[in-house]
Amino acid sequence: MTEPASSLDAAVTTLPGIGPGSAEKLARLEIVTIRDLVLHVPFRYQDRTRSVPFGELVPGRECVVTGEIVSANIAYGRRRSLLVTLSDGERRVTVRFFHFNVRQRQGFQAGLWMRCFGDVRPGPLGLEMVHPEYRLHREEPASVEAELTPVYRVTQGLTPKRLGQWVDKALERAADAVFSHLPDEVFPDLLAAIRFLHRPPAEPDIERRVETARSRVALDEFVGHYLVLKNRQALAKTQTTLPLPSREQLGRELLRQLGFRLTRAQARVTAEVLNDLDHDRPMMRLLQGDVGSGKTVVAAFAAIRAAENGYQTAIMAPTEILAEQHFETLSLWLPPLGIEVGLLTGRMSAAERRTRLAAVAEGRDLVVVGTHALFQAGVEFHGLALAIVDEQHRFGVHQRMQLRDKGRLPHQLVMTATPIPRTLTMALYADMDVSTIDELPPGRTPVRTHLAMMSRRDEAIERVARACAAGRQAYWVCTMIEEDEEADLGGRAPLHAAVTTYEELGRAMPGGLRLGLVHGRLPPAEKSTVMADFKAHRIDVLVATTVIEVGVDVPNATLMVIDNAERLGLAQLHQLRGRVGRGAGSSSCLLLYETPVSAVARQRLTVMRETNDGFAIAEKDLELRGPGDVLGTRQTGDETFRLVDLAVDRALVPKAVRLGDRLLAEDPATARVIVDTWAKGDIEYASV
Ligand code: ADP
Ligand code: MG
Repeated sequence: MTEPASSLDAAVTTLPGIGPGSAEKLARLEIVTIRDLVLHVPFRYQDRTRSVPFGELVPGRECVVTGEIVSANIAYGRRRSLLVTLSDGERRVTVRFFHFNVRQRQGFQAGLWMRCFGDVRPGPLGLEMVHPEYRLHREEPASVEAELTPVYRVTQGLTPKRLGQWVDKALERAADAVFSHLPDEVFPDLLAAIRFLHRPPAEPDIERRVETARSRVALDEFVGHYLVLKNRQALAKTQTTLPLPSREQLGRELLRQLGFRLTRAQARVTAEVLNDLDHDRPMMRLLQGDVGSGKTVVAAFAAIRAAENGYQTAIMAPTEILAEQHFETLSLWLPPLGIEVGLLTGRMSAAERRTRLAAVAEGRDLVVVGTHALFQAGVEFHGLALAIVDEQHRFGVHQRMQLRDKGRLPHQLVMTATPIPRTLTMALYADMDVSTIDELPPGRTPVRTHLAMMSRRDEAIERVARACAAGRQAYWVCTMIEEDEEADLGGRAPLHAAVTTYEELGRAMPGGLRLGLVHGRLPPAEKSTVMADFKAHRIDVLVATTVIEVGVDVPNATLMVIDNAERLGLAQLHQLRGRVGRGAGSSSCLLLYETPVSAVARQRLTVMRETNDGFAIAEKDLELRGPGDVLGTRQTGDETFRLVDLAVDRALVPKAVRLGDRLLAEDPATARVIVDTWAKGDIEYASV
């Protein structure tokens, strides 16, 4: 009996044993269909296939141990605990319980056998296990598990075991489903690789085999993603939209007004963008350029082009501050050319919002800058021809698409300051053309970065005071707002929170220096006032949380101190540092760190000291990150991949691209199968 592949798209509730309650829990893991269950592979394994003789135990490693109970006694040390001593005939191991009841205690009869699973660690009496999983036996138990035990990502109220049982059922259903077959791979059959990951047999060298199987699945997923993007690109080529040809040469007018000359890189990418707009095929272009490389003016040229043609541009920014910053900049540049600019954010009063919405709907605002408020229902454009998205990685693909839906296939320009290593652009933005600004405006002296232990905070304060006395301004960046937020950090080194730091600096700084404080919890209006004051040099030192990460542009600020820099990721540190070094004066950045520093954090800090090159930093970032989040996609809840972990799997990208291209050309049936396997049925894929 062959089941069509589509049966995998049935809801999990069609499996016996999964009711609405369970389905709800699964949904929290984004498991909705049987396919989702099949593709929910374990993220690690426990080895219960062997009971380890006491003489071979390795501290820190999880394992099964089996021994005869010699004694069970209560020890009254710093904490009362129950110690069960096991013997394997030669050596002894202690099992320690801090929580136990009388019945449990009475169960540990000398002469019984105990089998435990857990971590082994050194203790006062030799090796011990604390609160392991265990079972008592009358005789020495023989059997161990035949297979490695998969560990699944689960959610509250769901045990890995239960999930594993459902996976088994899902795999039964998948038996005849069609998955890809790639003859050149060690695991030609995708389904075989997936099965292997769910139920790896006990065999020698199993770890390597598991890794091979995982790569096979990751490759499939990468190829699927790539094919979807390629399809989307091919589709876009068949679609037409409004061409926006050059009309009034208003761009030249802006060039004259700017007060600076474009860098070669800016001129080049502007030409690329304008050339796209000349045509009736919707532009899909990614503009990447390091912090401060001057992307905004490129966006302005594009918006001018749309305006010349009588059409609107929407510019979407991830934060209010950044939206306001763009609004200010564009309000300087565009109205003199007769192009009205509007701002639409979530913090406007209802009346303001109505006025703005009307101006947008009637087409009076030809350029509209905003946050996510831009794509909310109720925002109607008169004629949207161009959608520009800044700091793209902070928005999910969904949001980008929603904005796109507001117009009749508007041209799209996506700007990012998080440089993406080339290998990744190939896979992640395969549907887009890429323009790169690889040059900073002239006259910028590179920011010098220094590291200092927190104990040298006084020196940092002195430096800030000196810089300000010389007429410069400084940022002091903190990682949290108030000290009490640290309560749940459980005894780790105290963070110098913004509010406390603000007060502390107020006491420590020489009189006459003006301090400002800005953080995410400040009422919006106050936030804007503080930023404006800093910009106008009515404030010398701005104490801030990481809200200033993007968009703040104050060339006279030449010093930045970052408190607890060891806590921040490389991308974030780089973004923050990009706030200084924006003028001609030489700038520096001081990274204060609390000791002890983890090895990885130390490496991050060292990278920051050694380079200002965003691309180099992005590469390093990928290297240093463990499995987890790259490009911030996890934070926005827009998980692009099910299994692929960019930090681990990016080496597969070139192969995936080659394979994807080959399948498109020679084996479209397999290409289709792979897309069907990985499609999540969301906007991203549905628009293929
Ligand atoms: P980002 O790429 O980080 O968005 P911006 O567009 O904010 O960079 O530009 C950073 C600063 O550099 C702004 O003050 C901008 O006016 C200025 N700038 C941009 N291009 C040039 C240039 N070619 N020469 C001098 N200054 C420039
Ligand atoms: Mg910018």
